[in-house]
Amino acid sequence: MTTPGRTDPDVLVVGAGVVGLCCAWFLRRAGHTVTVVDRGEVGDAAACSAGNTGFVGTQGSAPLAEPGVPATGIRWLLRPESPFAVRPRLDGALLAWLWHFRRHCTEQHARAGFETLLALKQRSLALLREICAEDELAGTLTERGMILACHTEQGYAKARRTIPAATARGVPLRELGRAELARLEPGVDFAVAGTLLNEEGAALRVPAFLVALAAALRARGVDVVTGAEVRDFEVTGRRVRAVRTTSGELRPAEVVIAAGVWSAACARMLGVGLTLQPAKGYTVTLPAGPGTPTRPVLLSEGKVAVMPLGDRVRVGGTLELSGLDASISPRRVDGILHTARRYLPALDTGRRLDVWAGLRPCTPDSLPLIGRADGYDNVSVATGHGHIGMGLAPAGGKLLAQIVSGAEPDLPPETFAVDRFRKGIS
Ligand SMILES: Cc1cc2nc3c(=O)[nH]c(=O)nc-3n(C[C@H](O)[C@H](O)[C@H](O)COP(=O)(O)OP(=O)(O)OC[C@H]3O[C@@H](n4cnc5c(N)ncnc54)[C@H](O)[C@@H]3O)c2cc1C
Repeated sequence: MTTPGRTDPDVLVVGAGVVGLCCAWFLRRAGHTVTVVDRGEVGDAAACSAGNTGFVGTQGSAPLAEPGVPATGIRWLLRPESPFAVRPRLDGALLAWLWHFRRHCTEQHARAGFETLLALKQRSLALLREICAEDELAGTLTERGMILACHTEQGYAKARRTIPAATARGVPLRELGRAELARLEPGVDFAVAGTLLNEEGAALRVPAFLVALAAALRARGVDVVTGAEVRDFEVTGRRVRAVRTTSGELRPAEVVIAAGVWSAACARMLGVGLTLQPAKGYTVTLPAGPGTPTRPVLLSEGKVAVMPLGDRVRVGGTLELSGLDASISPRRVDGILHTARRYLPALDTGRRLDVWAGLRPCTPDSLPLIGRADGYDNVSVATGHGHIGMGLAPAGGKLLAQIVSGAEPDLPPETFAVDRFRKGIS
């Protein structure tokens, strides 16, 4: 029995975060009828897409797994204010994830990961420009460049070494001298050894972007249903016949699981395992003041992002592998603000307008899981966009739509195969 008043779509997308909405956008553009279901409201704080710092563009395309990360990570584990943490626990899925992550901490994997993520980010930026040119999304994307700030000489030297590889791939990344920095950000006190500028640094306003994208989807005939949690699937052989939600049942021809960190639980209902871990991060929104930059700034060594939002500024960071737990640790929040003040001493961190925690859906190689779910002919997965999901979701959504439509994919789908860790492809 289907829900009264609701027609069964060609494709049902589970999850209305940035990934689910981008999938829906490209599925609709491919001519499908689409329904998106989410257990919450679009843009509410539980979704990882709702409170993040919104950096998009071509900066920050490095995977999390890099040579040297295991050693640094162990040092960081001992400091409660560090940008990285693992809550120790006996959890087979976490141990398997860490094993794959450790395996990817090589030069070769890091280089290949960078190439793939950069290509996805470049495509995504071009797609975002198209999407955000629609009336409903006006003002949600800004492109004023992004500053990479390095506190130490060592950090600055390391950052400068990334310039040739980036520029060779078309990223407009360059050194930013003190005089030009002062011209770009007059009156802002930067306590840094040096800065770089990525002229292609861009910013999405969140959650406004999500709300506007949902409105644009609705205007194009997509049914975005909120307050509908997927609880169960009816399966016959290799096909899902029905999706049971808290507000009724739907019988779509295709199902896409794009439920962020909760994709693992959704897929498990179908007996599909995903190599995915939640990685908690925090943002603190402060009133903007004279010490606030007007462009997005990435505080390089501290792994903290600073995003100006008009009369407010959002500061975000930390990555904690602590399971499905979005509780807020005041110590980690203090650690983020302490780091921010080291680079921007005049930043007023005294009055916190909002403190938010979100769970990033992370894979060991930092590449998303996009493609058909093993064992099913009509179930696909789109998740695992990790620390840069806002910047990857459009290209990922387009790839997913091509796979579901049986069209020629414009990216190699095997790179993103959902079962690549279990099959030893990655
Ligand atoms: C502190 C922080 C800062 C970040 N900064 C950036 C940044 O600057 N740039 C960037 O690119 N990325 C950033 N990210 C990462 C980015 O936020 C994520 O990669 C992205 O939001 C993941 O989107 P998603 O759609 O997969 O998941 P989500 O946004 O979490 O969406 C999943 C949705 O699925 C729904 N759902 C779950 N289970 C069910 C169910 N059973 N039935 C129905 N609905 C369900 C949930 O309600 C939710 O709305 C940051 C993350 C954090 C934590």
